[in-house]
Amino acid sequence: MLNGRELATFREQLLAWFRQFRRDLPWRRTQDPYRIWLSEIMLQQTRVAAVIPYYERFLERFPDIRTLAAAPQEEVLRLWSGLGYYGRARNLQKAAKQIVAKHGGAFPANPEDLLALPGVGSYTAAAILSIAFGKKHAVLDGNVARVLARLGAIRGDLREPQRWQAVQTTADALLDPKTPGEWNQAVMELGATLCTPKSPQCLLCPVAQFCEGRKLGIADILPEKRNKRATVQVTLAAAVFVDNEGWTFLLPPPQDTDVDALADYAPSLVSRMWHFPAASVTGDPAEKLRAFLRKLLRGVSTGNWHFLPAGRVRHAVTYRRITIVPFRIQVRKLPRIAGAQRVPLHDISLLPVSNLTRKIARAALASADSAPGKR
Ligand code: SF4
Repeated sequence: MLNGRELATFREQLLAWFRQFRRDLPWRRTQDPYRIWLSEIMLQQTRVAAVIPYYERFLERFPDIRTLAAAPQEEVLRLWSGLGYYGRARNLQKAAKQIVAKHGGAFPANPEDLLALPGVGSYTAAAILSIAFGKKHAVLDGNVARVLARLGAIRGDLREPQRWQAVQTTADALLDPKTPGEWNQAVMELGATLCTPKSPQCLLCPVAQFCEGRKLGIADILPEKRNKRATVQVTLAAAVFVDNEGWTFLLPPPQDTDVDALADYAPSLVSRMWHFPAASVTGDPAEKLRAFLRKLLRGVSTGNWHFLPAGRVRHAVTYRRITIVPFRIQVRKLPRIAGAQRVPLHDISLLPVSNLTRKIARAALASADSAPGKR
């Protein structure tokens, strides 16, 4: 623990460094809670460079909470398309509706109301409260926890509840009460630019003199690994129907009520976005997919369909390693399925789709280019 004088020096040095070297990011030019909230949600599990263009496009279309609350969900998802973890976009809009309905469109400025919003946890609430409203709440996420674990040479799995609570207590004690929003951003910036997961750049660190992990020579092994959930391998077969004009069809996002059932047959592929018909398979993927399509198309004869394999697409979502075996099925006329929507195969992003669905479309397009007679 730092004494009063050390703590003051620690804060001064970190803030001075931040003021000099901070990256100029679009959400740092505002104190609008809506914009800060949006940036925090987009930055979850996603790199800054990937977020910037999405953030700007999103705000162009939805400049305030009311516009977002009133927009069709399809459009919100379309502007999120490619950013992944689409539950974030759905929760964002649900929360916007809640803010309009319960708070007259004014962003709540207290932890209870913020934590009641879908998709807002303690980290996001603390970020909004401190950055937008100047309130004394210290943020704590994996990035900040890593910095604090190294500074205090904290051993063990940080996600164990008691240890996490101890790290939160440290974060609260270090927080500069005069400028909590800037302080939180400075700690996050240190974690994002110098105190990175691999090879921390301690020689450039403004608070290296206070770092116990560096003194003990263990900074780069902290935080210690947590016990990970075992990886699960999943194989899916996906059907990409294509007619003679190059059109395909996608199935709509499943409704809240049937997403669990869908997750059984196509975990993560669906992502609750528009998607190709797909089934979880073991054994011969073409045969399994044919059986699945017969069910989906309610007995339509699939005998004439030729399933052209379109390589393999690999994808990882949390603990799942997914292998997708896409099949291109060339048909004169696309089969009719209630709710499905036609799109050109080369431009499926006209609908909100996940990156995985885009990869499948690319594989199907490539398979047509390399099919016999096309070379
Ligand atoms: Fe991180 Fe190194 Fe700074 Fe310690 S000295 S906080 S390990 S960058």
